[in-house]
Amino acid sequence: MGSSPSSDGGEARLNHYDYVIVGAGSAGCVLANRLSADTGKRVLLLEAGGTDWSPLIHMPAGLARLVNQRSVNWNYHTEPEPALDQRRLWWPRGKTLGGSSSINAMCYVRGVPADYDRWAQACGDPRWSWSHVLPWFLRSEDNSRGASALHGAGGPLGVSDLRHHNVLSAALIDAAASAGFARNDDFNGSAQAGFGLYQVTQRNGARCSTATAYLKPVRARGNLEVRTGVLVERVLLDGARVVGVQLRRGRRGSEQIEAGEVILAAGAINTPQLLMLSGLGPADHLRAHGIEVRADLPEVGEGLQDHLDICTLVGTERKKLSYDHLNELTTAVRWLRHRDGPGSSNIAEAGGFVRSALAEDERCDLQFHFVPALLDDHGRHRLPGDGYTLHACHLHPRSRGRLRLRSADPAQPIAIHAGYLSDPEGHDLRRMIAAARLSREILAQPAFDAYRGKPVFPEHALHTDAEYAGFIRRKAETIYHPVGSCRMGSDDRAVVDSELRVRGVQGLRVVDAAVMPSLPSGNTNAPTIMIAERASALILGST
Ligand SMILES: Cc1cc2nc3c(=O)[nH]c(=O)nc-3n(C[C@H](O)[C@H](O)[C@H](O)COP(=O)(O)OP(=O)(O)OC[C@H]3O[C@@H](n4cnc5c(N)ncnc54)[C@H](O)[C@@H]3O)c2cc1C
Repeated sequence: MGSSPSSDGGEARLNHYDYVIVGAGSAGCVLANRLSADTGKRVLLLEAGGTDWSPLIHMPAGLARLVNQRSVNWNYHTEPEPALDQRRLWWPRGKTLGGSSSINAMCYVRGVPADYDRWAQACGDPRWSWSHVLPWFLRSEDNSRGASALHGAGGPLGVSDLRHHNVLSAALIDAAASAGFARNDDFNGSAQAGFGLYQVTQRNGARCSTATAYLKPVRARGNLEVRTGVLVERVLLDGARVVGVQLRRGRRGSEQIEAGEVILAAGAINTPQLLMLSGLGPADHLRAHGIEVRADLPEVGEGLQDHLDICTLVGTERKKLSYDHLNELTTAVRWLRHRDGPGSSNIAEAGGFVRSALAEDERCDLQFHFVPALLDDHGRHRLPGDGYTLHACHLHPRSRGRLRLRSADPAQPIAIHAGYLSDPEGHDLRRMIAAARLSREILAQPAFDAYRGKPVFPEHALHTDAEYAGFIRRKAETIYHPVGSCRMGSDDRAVVDSELRVRGVQGLRVVDAAVMPSLPSGNTNAPTIMIAERASALILGST
């Protein structure tokens, strides 16, 4: 291992860092920025994917094409899902600087106060309650509407109103109003319920991933090193203390890096895999794969939760209205010149939140995303014709899945058992049925009369719950919010404590969507960024 003179005149080990962050995603870029602000600390950020050079990442509407870009996506698939006709669902995850924040739909949603008050209760630490986490949301935010009691301005993360939206998105909001739902122009304001346009993680009409927001401005810091194209294979332990990581770059051999503290921010799928590969997980499962058990952590990979989503697709004869056949060249040229027009659209422009008759508490239990295009199979295969799509998901599922190693080989993806609709009482299925019924009701409103063509999915009118259940089993997909696979909690089985330290070892934290004890009422990027903001302060000892 090499050495060089350090600023205090002593010898600094070249291969030693105070903090090694694994994964440059939503959380990892925040950590890299905040931890390297202390110039006395050496920080290394390791990312398996490449740089975020692709213009499709930065032009918001490029996300329609990103779905087929394997180079920036882990392209996971679940195992056959028993409650979904044994289908294997596609689970995209970002694999580039910015992680999933570089390929996501940019909807900026935090959830509601009760979500975080539940977290605080679940992990026995009031510092995760709404009143304590709100300042961390505000710290991250640079809202184009300016600062207020519930919004921040001047933070790294650009949050803006859309510069362009489709006439069909406006029809959705009108249709929801005539179906009895309020208009809401701020889902992160005093009330979440209602329909409106999403605010988006954009600045000046361009995507604001965490790589753009947090990493780019500090890349020149001498104490921050960023390496892309490196797969971290496991964390290294000396007894019960984590002392570094082992990584691999392409076909070159493995390399070991020393660390004062390792922070896993590899996301809800890869972080538990890394823990297990390091001997930190369910003891019997690790032994079955020939991995030496360093700490028996039974819930690593358990507790997986996701928002299951059902799409209703309707065709339209009004050609050139939807984004189905957008002229890509004109769109890109306009966006490059003016940073506006359809190129600045996040595609999932409008949506809403509803508290259904089945809601069990004061929170909305259904969320909607509207896409002015026929979006089947995540848009991976274009359907003929033009149309529009209403996504509907249930926000608080009881079903839980799990992640299990296929082998001890770090290059082999972990097996994802999402466990959708597996709750024995049918609680989740009833809510998905309510969500699908409501989608049809909203799309049947007069606001769509001028646009409505033939139904695409479902192909025919559905009436009974059994018919809706069949449709859901045949067509439901993820809306990309896996969390909870390394649950934070105060009990012995929780994977991390309320300061995100992995139980049973020293010098290791998990800081990403995996630690969420339960899904928030909405999308998961902003909550993950908040977790990383808070974790940075915990690590630096400033909270
Ligand atoms: C298609 C899509 C659309 C979405 N839309 C929205 C939306 O509109 N709004 C919203 O709020 N949320 C959305 N989400 C969800 C949100 O983006 C994620 O919840 C959030 O980004 C998760 O952040 P994370 O830090 O936990 O993981 P990620 O951002 O996924 O970061 C993990 C990083 O770790 C890297 N990594 C993994 N394993 C290793 C390893 N072994 N070695 C080195 N590096 C590794 C990965 O390559 C990745 O860069 C969407 C997600 C997807 C995929």
